[in-house]
Amino acid sequence: MSKKEFIPDPNKNPYRVRNSPQSHNNPGNPEFIDFNTQRVCPSCGGIIKISHNFCKYCGVDLSRIEAIGTTDEISKQLAITAVSDPNAEVRKEAVDTLGNFGDTKVLGVLTYVMLHDPDPEVRREAVDELGDLHHPYSLDALAKALKDESPEVRKEAIEGLKKIKKKVKEKKIEKGKASEREKDSDKEEEDKEKKDKKEKDKEKDDLEEKNEEEYLL
Ligand SMILES: [Zn+2]
Repeated sequence: MSKKEFIPDPNKNPYRVRNSPQSHNNPGNPEFIDFNTQRVCPSCGGIIKISHNFCKYCGVDLSRIEAIGTTDEISKQLAITAVSDPNAEVRKEAVDTLGNFGDTKVLGVLTYVMLHDPDPEVRREAVDELGDLHHPYSLDALAKALKDESPEVRKEAIEGLKKIKKKVKEKKIEKGKASEREKDSDKEEEDKEKKDKKEKDKEKDDLEEKNEEEYLL
């Protein structure tokens, strides 16, 4: 018996490897993800119900990130094109356009494309856009792309991580500067003032109500 002869191991499933999360699913199958009922976690790439505010796989809070399926029809159609068009050039163009929207709502679909598209050029484009959007949630997602089979995608993932890390650092420095801090906190103060006013008004109302009650007594 030669060394190369294949001896099947009944305990090993030869298909398991191909079904691993690293395998690229067919984007020509639009049924794989339904943006009307599902959303993609921008941190781990998990597919969850559109109504969920937390990712059931990695636990991140998604309440501040709009699901693309709940936004405008054009964004939704572009997302569907990005994951299901049979032509790689078209998918890449859709990814590019979604990225240019510059909104957090596109993070999920870009993450999905980055992890599942069979074409390395399309995956690389998704990585590029995620880097430009520099959302901290993308750090974990881009770390996954470091294991991509294409060196171009892996290189782009490193660039993306660099871009996001730089932005996060810049933001911290900005916050440290007094002038910038004022600018940043202006809105916060405004909101606080509004809230305080509301509370005061409520207090006033309560007091008036109480006085009225006392008067009636
Ligand atoms: Zn997740």
